[in-house]
Amino acid sequence: MTSPTRPRVVILGAGPAGVGAAYRLMRDNRFDVTILERNEVVGGNAGSFALGGLNVDYGSHRLHPSCDPQVFKDIRTLLGDDLLERPRHGRIHLKGRWIHFPLKPADLMMRVSPTFAFGVGLDLLKKMRGFRLDTETRESFATVLEAGLGGTICRDFYFPYARKLWGVEPDALSGTQAKRRVQASSLSKMFRKILGICPGGQQGKRGVFYYPHGGFGQITEAYSKAAEAAGAKILFQTSVRSLQVDGNRVHTVVAERDGKEMRIQCDHVWSTIPLTALVRSLHPAAPLDVLESAGGLTFRSMVLVYIVLEQDRFTEFDAHYFPETSIPVSRLSEPKNYSLHGRSGMTVLCAEMPCSLEDPVWNMSSDELGQVVLDTLSRLSLSVKGPVKEVLVKKLSHAYPVYLQGYESRFKAMDEYLESMSNLLTFGRQGLFAHDNTHHALFMAYAAVDCLHPEGAFAWDRWKQYRAVFETHVVED
Ligand SMILES: Cc1cc2nc3c(=O)[nH]c(=O)nc-3n(C[C@H](O)[C@H](O)[C@H](O)COP(=O)(O)OP(=O)(O)OC[C@H]3O[C@@H](n4cnc5c(N)ncnc54)[C@H](O)[C@@H]3O)c2cc1C
Repeated sequence: MTSPTRPRVVILGAGPAGVGAAYRLMRDNRFDVTILERNEVVGGNAGSFALGGLNVDYGSHRLHPSCDPQVFKDIRTLLGDDLLERPRHGRIHLKGRWIHFPLKPADLMMRVSPTFAFGVGLDLLKKMRGFRLDTETRESFATVLEAGLGGTICRDFYFPYARKLWGVEPDALSGTQAKRRVQASSLSKMFRKILGICPGGQQGKRGVFYYPHGGFGQITEAYSKAAEAAGAKILFQTSVRSLQVDGNRVHTVVAERDGKEMRIQCDHVWSTIPLTALVRSLHPAAPLDVLESAGGLTFRSMVLVYIVLEQDRFTEFDAHYFPETSIPVSRLSEPKNYSLHGRSGMTVLCAEMPCSLEDPVWNMSSDELGQVVLDTLSRLSLSVKGPVKEVLVKKLSHAYPVYLQGYESRFKAMDEYLESMSNLLTFGRQGLFAHDNTHHALFMAYAAVDCLHPEGAFAWDRWKQYRAVFETHVVED
């Protein structure tokens, strides 16, 4: 039974952060929870859809063993035996050679080109002899990685990959991008990782990942089903249009569904939609400098090209990584190799093509994109054998946050303004402009619930402590 006195929490967005929060809020049935989601399904960028006889994801998605133990325990409980433990088995294409990913010592020794190995060795010697970068140099993605990894790995791997993933030169990116995005950001960390000396996360596992039998989206589906069963409401095809503010409180969320306006009264608004959209939705409008800051934050987009093949398997590998800029695809995954699921005689490939909304690739037809991917594969001696049954294209407008130099002050201006609202919280990958994994977004959702008192008061001091923890998250591929 719904009691009118229960605090009303309106959640914006039904990606992992949104449904994770709803699930945790409904545990004790003390809150009235409504999620507003513009799509027809839950999952956001971490969702799945059916194609070619199996459920495929929006680019390669896996649950990493570094997942917070409480989050992992819940996922395990929700999915049961459907949560598979799989060995990681990918490869990187570097200077015409294939290197196993995750990196393995024997494979590296056999496959890496002698000039590359010599360059890395020289960089290591320079580091051991105390060579330091000019301290006057402005910190950037380029300087942080060069100082940690030396010139060779940066020149041949990270810098071209950065140009491709984020669309700008490595020195135009903030040093934060290196710290938040690159796990092995120094040669010693990289060697420890290769040799297996690094701890493998909370679950103590290395070289494995977790994956739901029914596609990565099964995680968010399970969270949302459990939340709905406990009484949470999810309104699909409902786009948030504005947040009506009185003083320092949001009192109403205005949304649009089937062309009609809806007004939803709230005690708390928890937003997981892009921070920039949130700031622009405030009514009365945020101050001009805050709105200008929103205009200065950039998200990288992505075109996903799915090729359904009439052949049982394309390769044995889960994913192929292509750092070089001459190859338009950044990663190619074969979902069947993640879930061990699907029809015999059929498989699907998913090619990830990072881009901006202005790039020609964003507006290409599926036939053109399919041809680009097939031509790329044949150039790499990875030609498809079976006939192509179908090419399908999906587009992500907000795939990666881009940490351009100076983004920190723009983020801070928006963050501080939003903090001045007593009942508005922003979190999740889009909400905190965080280059995060799904388990990080879920951890943020759990943290938010931990800060909300059953009577409705929010522990902002505790939230500040959690925010400091979020800063330590480093994304995994
Ligand atoms: C190519 C790619 C590969 C990835 N691989 C991995 C991986 O291997 N492992 C991993 O853990 N993570 C991976 N991630 C990251 C993962 O997708 C995100 O961490 C996760 O989706 C973040 O969840 P979220 O809820 O914060 O945001 P989102 O998933 O982006 O959800 C936000 C939701 O808000 C909704 N929304 C937006 N605007 C509005 C509006 N105005 N009104 C109503 N609803 C709105 C959106 O439709 C969406 O459903 C990958 C991401 C990408 C792009």
